[in-house]
Amino acid sequence: MSSSAAPLFERVALIGIGLIGSSLARRIRRDRLADAIVCAARSEATAARALALGLVDQAGTDAAASVAGADLVILCSPVGTYAEIAAAIGPLLKPGAIVSDVGSVKQCVIRDVGPCLPDGVSLVPAHPVAGTEHSGPDAGFPELFEGRWCILTPPPGTDPQAIERVAALWRCCGALIEVMEPAHHDRVLAITSHLPHLIAYTIVGTAVDLEEATRSEVIKFSAGGFRDFTRIAASDPVMWRDIFLNNREAVLEIIQRFSEDLTALQRAIRWGEGDKLEELFTRTRAIRRSIIDVKQA
Ligand code: NAP
Repeated sequence: MSSSAAPLFERVALIGIGLIGSSLARRIRRDRLADAIVCAARSEATAARALALGLVDQAGTDAAASVAGADLVILCSPVGTYAEIAAAIGPLLKPGAIVSDVGSVKQCVIRDVGPCLPDGVSLVPAHPVAGTEHSGPDAGFPELFEGRWCILTPPPGTDPQAIERVAALWRCCGALIEVMEPAHHDRVLAITSHLPHLIAYTIVGTAVDLEEATRSEVIKFSAGGFRDFTRIAASDPVMWRDIFLNNREAVLEIIQRFSEDLTALQRAIRWGEGDKLEELFTRTRAIRRSIIDVKQA
């Protein structure tokens, strides 16, 4: 999207301005996708930082006040905060406004935000499948969403124009759009994102619990695979707590299947069944190649 095109929105309100919110703000500002951007954070310090970085025109800590006059409101805070924020902003939303979000779980958005929205306001939940292990307004960058998927999960009956306007914003941020049922989204992300994070948190936790001497060697020789897990396990604790608590069913189901597969591998190692190990490792290597082929590596 070039800066010569008309802005997509008049006034965008971002509730939360961390990695994802500030990346969006940077892109919206850089490419003039909105006439004005305002934000609300939880702390004064983050609001002040967003202003100092020039990310937004106005910043504060009052989510309800921030949505006044906004034609697009995007929740960019941990999903566990949504119910309270939605209850606060609902009565102040402009008629015809669109409410969206960037949360990593989607059924809970419809459950927690949907009932708080007045008639005439559209809900278009979104999940940009992009991120890093860093947090806060300094961590964002405008290219974060480039070439990444953004999954939209509008509830049945959502105004198609509202869906298209949110899709257009994400396309202008460089993202590829996919529309999905929220339950399907939560199952897919449970295996592609949530379980890998849980495994990383577990492995790093196990290593930390080892006795002191071993622990220093874990850090010294971390290049042997462990290092990649420590990067993932450095992700924001509150955000990930909320993801697991709000995608409970899908995550528990995937953990069950994973545990069974792990037990099968444990048996194969115990009984020296090298052919079983090799067969699995050959299949998984092919998956890596197909991810590289579709440019998501
Ligand atoms: P982050 O960097 O930790 O930023 C969170 C922001 O939310 C901060 O500005 C924080 O303000 C604000 N906040 C927290 N509670 C709030 C409340 N009650 N009211 C208003 N603002 C509040 O987090 P993030 O990585 O950008 O993640 C934000 C959302 O994006 C989450 O829902 C997450 O699931 C989703 N997501 C994250 C990634 C990723 O890789 N990080 C990828 C895709 C989607 P303070 O600084 O003042 O506390």
